[in-house]
Amino acid sequence: MNIPITTLPTSSSNVSCSNCKACCCRLEVMIISDTGVPEHFIKRDEYGGETMMRLNDGWCAALDRDSLMCTIYENRPWICREFEMASYECLDERDKYISPVIKG
Ligand code: SF4
Ligand code: SF4
Repeated sequence: MNIPITTLPTSSSNVSCSNCKACCCRLEVMIISDTGVPEHFIKRDEYGGETMMRLNDGWCAALDRDSLMCTIYENRPWICREFEMASYECLDERDKYISPVIKG
């Protein structure tokens, strides 16, 4: 989704994945096309719907907890590829999990 920059809060200019705690990797990520996500990271519901598995800490199972980098970057789901840094959704997730000091 493209959000006009004029609708974003002024703090969006300081937004970067490098000063984030992989906040968007706490969202439910539906797998809607085959990008090669390894089976052990896929959670299936009773209807066959597939999402990225999340661990008890809330983050996606494919996230490296130390580096906060995606361990399956080349095979990440389509939704992860489309999620835009500094978009409304990105800022919303950051607001939930990052302190104002880090957020800038
Ligand atoms: S896209 Fe946004 S929420 Fe996701 S890691 Fe980057 S800055 Fe954080
Ligand atoms: S697949 Fe990678 S980019 Fe997508 S939510 Fe999981 S760790 Fe984040």
